[in-house]
Amino acid sequence: MLQPLQLLQPSTVAEASRALAEFGDKAKLYAGGAELLLLLRNGLLQIETVVDVKAIPRLHQVSVEANAIHVGACVTHHELQAHPAIRQHAPAFAYAESQVANVRVRNQGTLGGNLAFNDPHSDPGTVLLIHQASVTLGSSRGERQLRLDEFFVDMYATALEPDELLLEVEIPFLPLGMKCAYQRLHRYQRPTLGVAAGVRMSNGTIAEARLAVGCVGPKAVRLSDLEAKLRGSKLSESRQLIAVEKEQLRQLLRPVGDLLGSADYKLYMTTVMLGNVLEAAAAQ
Ligand SMILES: Cc1cc2nc3c(=O)[nH]c(=O)nc-3n(C[C@H](O)[C@H](O)[C@H](O)COP(=O)(O)OP(=O)(O)OC[C@H]3O[C@@H](n4cnc5c(N)ncnc54)[C@H](O)[C@@H]3O)c2cc1C
Repeated sequence: MLQPLQLLQPSTVAEASRALAEFGDKAKLYAGGAELLLLLRNGLLQIETVVDVKAIPRLHQVSVEANAIHVGACVTHHELQAHPAIRQHAPAFAYAESQVANVRVRNQGTLGGNLAFNDPHSDPGTVLLIHQASVTLGSSRGERQLRLDEFFVDMYATALEPDELLLEVEIPFLPLGMKCAYQRLHRYQRPTLGVAAGVRMSNGTIAEARLAVGCVGPKAVRLSDLEAKLRGSKLSESRQLIAVEKEQLRQLLRPVGDLLGSADYKLYMTTVMLGNVLEAAAAQ
């Protein structure tokens, strides 16, 4: 049974931020509630106030401006998977959104809630790293922008200050000629492993590659060193180049064994699936 909770429904960012500042640890922002209600029902979180952010209009907007898509924090996974601008300019992200959980969670859960919770077993953040996405955070003190890789701090930890809200995610278009793919491995609803690749080929070789891995360790990460090693090689050589990097990937990804798979299994499958997703991106 849930304990009675005070419900606040602010209509501005400043009001929501002031509520967080006033109630401190006893309050939490509430968007879709997909994660929050689970925590409350299982007694993993003790709060007295929920600050429902869904009445703040700007958090529901999706717009395309200057080669980037701007997505409000309260846009749901279902809206994103179906949105024409997302499907056109960020198809791998639209695909990742279509893979989240099940139709109930996709209708209820929001992109902002997903990124702010930063559960390691998530899909959207991994492919957003390929787009070099950034986030806008806001409070009654003002707004600031951060790269998504700076926003993800650790497992369930982000750069959000206690009185801040995640307002918007900016998703730049990929460079001209770059194709992108996302693939996930799952035994249950939440992914065991998610890999994303962006690749631009020139004269049969990899001119530019972007790679990201999620779910293996505490947070989704870009693989910049491996990307540099792939540059100038043939696609057919990429699996070998990835396989020899396994120990470096272990250091970088810090694989965690859990109910979804052992650390060694996740790491091995990462090397296999990075090859798969690179080929899938190139074949788009
Ligand atoms: C059964 C199940 C299966 C799932 N499977 C998957 C999956 O396969 N892939 C995947 O990626 N995810 C999966 N999820 C996670 C889910 O998609 C996201 O966690 C969900 O979208 C969270 O969004 P929400 O709006 O419901 O957040 P809420 O539950 O409302 O909030 C989650 C957390 O984020 C904070 N928060 C919410 N909005 C903001 C904001 N604007 N600014 C700052 N903080 C905020 C809240 O205070 C809370 O701490 C699954 C969840 C469930 C319950």
